[in-house]
Amino acid sequence: MLKLDRVRKTKIICTLGPASQSDEMLGRLMDAGMNIVRLNMSHAVHDWVRSVVPRVRRLSAEKGINVGILMDTQGPAIRTGDLPAKLDLKVGDIFTFTVLGAQCEEEYCVNVNYDGLVKDLRVGETVVLDNGVLRMEVLEKTENRIRCRVLTPGIMGSRRHINLPGVRVNLPAMTAKDLADIRLGCELDVDYVALSFCREARDIAELRNIVKSHGKNPRLVAKIEDQEAVRNLNAIINEADAVMVARGDLGIECALEDLPIIQRRIVKQASIHLKPVIVATHMLESMIENPYPTRAEITDVANAVYEQVDAIMLSGETTTGKYPVGCVEVLDRIARRTERSGGVNYLQDLELESSREKFLRAAVIMANEMRAAAIVLFTRTGYLASMTAALRPRWSPVYAFTDTAEVAYKLSLNRSIFPFVCEFLHDPERNVLYAEKFLLDRDLILPGSTLVVVTETQAERAIEDGREGTRTIELIQMRVVE
Ligand code: PEP
Repeated sequence: MLKLDRVRKTKIICTLGPASQSDEMLGRLMDAGMNIVRLNMSHAVHDWVRSVVPRVRRLSAEKGINVGILMDTQGPAIRTGDLPAKLDLKVGDIFTFTVLGAQCEEEYCVNVNYDGLVKDLRVGETVVLDNGVLRMEVLEKTENRIRCRVLTPGIMGSRRHINLPGVRVNLPAMTAKDLADIRLGCELDVDYVALSFCREARDIAELRNIVKSHGKNPRLVAKIEDQEAVRNLNAIINEADAVMVARGDLGIECALEDLPIIQRRIVKQASIHLKPVIVATHMLESMIENPYPTRAEITDVANAVYEQVDAIMLSGETTTGKYPVGCVEVLDRIARRTERSGGVNYLQDLELESSREKFLRAAVIMANEMRAAAIVLFTRTGYLASMTAALRPRWSPVYAFTDTAEVAYKLSLNRSIFPFVCEFLHDPERNVLYAEKFLLDRDLILPGSTLVVVTETQAERAIEDGREGTRTIELIQMRVVE
């Protein structure tokens, strides 16, 4: 259960894998502060997903915390095929990629799952394999073969991921595998679907149509992982429900010295569009093997928290790493400490458009001025909570009461929001009393606290009925119990 001294605004996403999939480990990760589990469909098989999702739901219900589930699609990734044995490639070796079913005849050769590779690549361009482990330069190409020279040495195994930095790849936004995975995600009611290699806004629009055709409405996360997505950033942010700085691929697709600048740009643009943003990959990479992070990792995590991102994500650290729980504990410690020290506040000079946003900013300003112990609000769709949290309250957590588990799970990603499910009563005063008691009983607020309470539920109902609605911001000074 959430404890006042453990309130952390920045959310933690853990990718599940062999090191974290057991009930025992899931429970320990939840206790340590995991807010969302990520199912990486580049590796997960359907039977495994079918067994994990209900277990996560059960454990999170038992613990009284709303842990969200994010399904991360593989996307249109280019991959090599199988090799009979691993190849030890040296600088200057000649390596051939084949497409269109052409057979390998050369000593060093593998086929590729993307027939457009010959057309898309030009002589002199770079092919990067296996997360940057191997680099090759294109020397020449024929109808179905690309001859390359190895630039950086390394071992090449089967089914390796290929990146083509700066090349416009002519692949669909989603593959047949992605469509099957998304259908499964919808069937299991996952809370988030992340689209890998999202390149333009219409990729997200297409995904939204697909999930709608399955009768579902998960929040859609656009993974920004190549130069084209960076160019289309604002349009993508507008279309998506959240974005992810997918630094694994982004760090290969872009010049390495550009990565920090691109990360900052994505975080800033998402923040001023009032959309959640996740920073992913290599946050605690050294902890896959070691019990403590490097100083550079500590600072990298702290910088993301200082930039007030919504969530930070673990990948290999929690899938196969030796210290999954230790990683969550380290993120938790760094995040809580950094949050106390302040934040960048990209929204300071932002002009808000709608009167609803302006109303919510008034609530956030009041909470900041009064150093309120919490902002308490009631939200049916989650919008009110998301907007309030997006306006980045300086100190106050947002305790969001909602009447469906579905919305509570979908709020697990947003910075500052702690979602709770309760039944809404007709009388707003009684809802507030219920929330106060609920929070007091759990020691999440203390007697004597100042609360800013935002209510709109009556307003929503009134507006639906064509009547005038009232939105209220109340300042509550709780009684000190002797
Ligand atoms: C990334 O590239 O940083 C990322 C999160 O995507 P994936 O793990 O699917 O490669």
